[in-house]
Amino acid sequence: MTKREIISLTMREFWNAPDIDETFRFEDIDPCNPTVLALEDALKSIAVDTDILTCSDFGNLAVACCDTCHTMYPHFEMALVYLAGGDAAWVCCAIDRALHPKQAPEADDSSLVDLEDAIRLLSISYRDDNP
Ligand SMILES: [Zn+2]
Ligand SMILES: [Zn+2]
Repeated sequence: MTKREIISLTMREFWNAPDIDETFRFEDIDPCNPTVLALEDALKSIAVDTDILTCSDFGNLAVACCDTCHTMYPHFEMALVYLAGGDAAWVCCAIDRALHPKQAPEADDSSLVDLEDAIRLLSISYRDDNP
């Protein structure tokens, strides 16, 4: 799935913008839209028409996707990760954990907690800005 497809899919499903399909031009969507801003920030190292892996490419892991990541705030919860071979992938926390089990120890990792707090704060301030 290309970055353009990821952005258009998220805009359709999360932002309820049915007219944004994968032929959209960036000039046509509001560059201040918080969903677009967050996706651009998360995917800034990826060229707009570069094909990257997504959760559906990891069916062989037999891991169920995280519904929260995919549906609540995908532009904040989904993450760009890199595989050992260097391939980029746009995945939810469940797939990320399956791909990088050693990076998510059960305890004694305050950086993970901090990140979750940051995401929560971002989500809250976003809600305040957009009643
Ligand atoms: Zn997933
Ligand atoms: Zn998740």
